[in-house]
Amino acid sequence: MVRRRGAAAWRDGRTGQPAAAGDPHGRRPRTRCATLADVILFFGTRVRRRVLGSGTFHCPYCFQPRTYEQAETRSWIHVFWIPLIPLGGAQEEVQCTVCGGRWAPAVLQAEPLA
Ligand SMILES: [Zn+2]
Repeated sequence: MVRRRGAAAWRDGRTGQPAAAGDPHGRRPRTRCATLADVILFFGTRVRRRVLGSGTFHCPYCFQPRTYEQAETRSWIHVFWIPLIPLGGAQEEVQCTVCGGRWAPAVLQAEPLA
């Protein structure tokens, strides 16, 4: 099949009809504007976590002195994985680095059970 430059039938992806209906020669349009139906939009919510510090505490699950990470988490509305709008306030948590258990920051002041 031989295609002549400029004479190939350029078809609309949605309708299958030759594009550039206003062009009597059926040539490819020079510019094409994206419509809302042509764009795939990735959006949703994500949780972002920011580590504030670390140390040693007595883990209520492990019953052992363990290291922890204190972090701040916040949900965001994202578009194309770019966080744009925060949802609610930030929440602090303490996570044991061994068992992965997450606790309220008050666990750092708790006395270990004897
Ligand atoms: Zn633990």
